[in-house]
Amino acid sequence: MPDESDFIDWIRSQQTHAAHVLLPAGDDLAILRWPADDLLIAGVDQVLDGVHFDSKQHNPRSIGQKVMNRNLSDCAAMACLPVAALATVALPSGSNLSYAKELYLGLKAAADPFDCAIIGGDTASWPHPLAFTVTILARSAGIQPITRGHAKAGDNIYITGPLGGSILGRHMTFSPRVHEARELATHYPLTAMIDLSDGLSRDLDHICRQSGVGAIVDSTLIPIHPDAVELSRQDHRPPLQHALHDGEDYELLFTCAGPCDRAIRIGQITTGQGVQLRTDQGLEPLPTLGWQHRL
Ligand SMILES: [Mg+2]
Repeated sequence: MPDESDFIDWIRSQQTHAAHVLLPAGDDLAILRWPADDLLIAGVDQVLDGVHFDSKQHNPRSIGQKVMNRNLSDCAAMACLPVAALATVALPSGSNLSYAKELYLGLKAAADPFDCAIIGGDTASWPHPLAFTVTILARSAGIQPITRGHAKAGDNIYITGPLGGSILGRHMTFSPRVHEARELATHYPLTAMIDLSDGLSRDLDHICRQSGVGAIVDSTLIPIHPDAVELSRQDHRPPLQHALHDGEDYELLFTCAGPCDRAIRIGQITTGQGVQLRTDQGLEPLPTLGWQHRL
């Protein structure tokens, strides 16, 4: 880091006023006002060079946007409202101040539309690739958070948009479905929800395991993104396989105890366990081939 005090002074100059932030970044800790009787919902997510992005290919602003948007997408997954974020970055030795500023401007570009204040963080240099972590604080704001654990047999399964091929670029530029999630949770009896980061097969399996249920997905109902078709031309894997397993779509996957006309129905929750795919040939187990976190 060339001069950390210069960077901190610059960050302070970038902060926008937010009524709920009583003391912004710049002191030892920030101070927030929290509405009485509101739940505090917290999470953290990191992106690593070579795993979630490629610093040779992706500019720092888009990297900052991605790490913030991943956290905002987790807020969407629970139908809660983002309030504030804290960012920690480990910069490769020799990074300059303008690179660090661009990372911050990416965070801010993603956070500002949701009135999510960046209230603090930490910066250091190390002789390794870029590692970037954001912690998010959110509130329930009148809507009971939707977890992964309450899907019931008979519930319909929905997604909010077409899937597959996000690696062609959408994984860096997606829009977190925060407002859509809160609309859905307000108007429909949602029972479980998750954002599609790991791929439909794996994320639906997360819901099934945590709810103690099974699921049947109909292959003809899954909307395939044009990127999945394009990727299929390049690697000759069927577009449906990309839609089922690629991940980083950041659409919402949810279950609902009734019909929902604002999303795309792809199947139904069942008793038992495991996810099955319905095709012309009948039912077959759907393997969980999506993104597996490297531990
Ligand atoms: Mg998530």
